[in-house]
Amino acid sequence: RAKADGRDGFRVFEVDMDTTARAITVLESDLRRALARDEFVLHFQPQVDLESGRILGAEALIRWRREDGDLVPPGDFLPSAEETGLIIPINEWVLNNACQQAAAWRKAGLPPLRVAVNLSAVQFRKQDVQKVVMDAIAASGLEPSLLELELTETILLQDTDLVVAQIKALQQQGVTFSIDDFGTGYSSLAYVKNFPVNRLKIDKSFVHNLKADVNDAAIVRAIINLGHSLGLDVVAEGVETAAQVAHLRAEGCDEVQGYYFGRPMPAEDFVALVRRETLLARTA
Ligand code: C2E
Ligand code: MG
Ligand code: MG
Ligand code: MG
Repeated sequence: RAKADGRDGFRVFEVDMDTTARAITVLESDLRRALARDEFVLHFQPQVDLESGRILGAEALIRWRREDGDLVPPGDFLPSAEETGLIIPINEWVLNNACQQAAAWRKAGLPPLRVAVNLSAVQFRKQDVQKVVMDAIAASGLEPSLLELELTETILLQDTDLVVAQIKALQQQGVTFSIDDFGTGYSSLAYVKNFPVNRLKIDKSFVHNLKADVNDAAIVRAIINLGHSLGLDVVAEGVETAAQVAHLRAEGCDEVQGYYFGRPMPAEDFVALVRRETLLARTA
C-alpha cells in the first residue's frame, strides 16, 4: 500500500481498514464466547533429550475446538486475540491449564516432565506476569522448576528493565526461560547478553533445509556454539527427519522438538507416549 497516492489510493486504504475492523469485531465476540464456553484446548509436543532420547517435557500449544468440531490453529486466532487484548485471559487460561496438567502428571507417578508455555508481549505490557505465573504455580502445586516460559524477541525488545526484573524474580523461584524462534530477530546477540534465559530454541526455518543449505547449517552451528559458550542449552525446533536428528546430534545440540518425535497431541496421547517410554526403559 506504499503507493497510496491520489484519491484511489486513499479509498483503497479506507476499505482495507473497514474490513479489518469488522473481521476483528466478529472474532472478538467469537473469542469471548470461546473463553466462556471453555472451547480452548492444549496440545502437547514432546521435547526430547538428544543424548538419551528421553522425553524431557512438552510445549503446550493452544488450539480452539469450535462447536462444529473444527480445530482452529493458533495462527488463525491469536493475532486477533493480541489486537483485542483477549490474549491476556486466554494466556492466563493456558498457564493455569498447563501447570495443572504437568502437576497431574507428577501426581500420576510419571517422571518429572517440564511444561513450556508461550508468553505474549501484550502480557508484559498490560499484566503483572510475575503474579499471574506464581498464582498458576501455587494453584496447581507444580514445582516451579517444571515450568518453562518461552519468550520471543518482541517481548525482549520492549521495556527492558521491567521485563528483566520479572524474569529474574521468577527465575529465583525456579522457573526457567527460553528464547523462542531464535535467529529470526535482528538483535539476537544483544538480548542473549542482557536477558538471563536458560535455553535457546533454534527457529524451525533454519532446521528445515539443514541438509541442503550450507548457510542454514552454518547458522545452526553458530547458535549451538553461542548458546553453549554462554552456558545455555540449545533446542532445535521443527525437526522432521532422521537426517536432521543425526546432523543436530553431531553438532552437539541438546534437545529436539518436531514432527519426527511427535506432533502436538492431546494430553492423553502424550501421557501414553511417556508411559510407553518409561516401560521400555524398565524392561531394557
Ligand atoms: P512456536 O511457539 O514456535 O511453536 C512451534 C510451532 O511449530 C507450533 O505451531 C508447532 O505445531 C509447529 N511445529 C512443531 N514441530 C514442527 C515440525 O516438525 N514441522 C513444522 N513445520 N512445524 C512444527 P502451532 O501450534 O501452530 O503454533 C504456532 C505459534 O502460535 C507458536 O509458535 C506460538 O508462537 C503461538 N502459540 C501457540 N500456543 C500459544 C499460546 O498458548 N500462547 C501464545 N501466546 N502463543 C501461542
Ligand atoms: Mg514456542
Ligand atoms: Mg518457535
Ligand atoms: Mg545437555
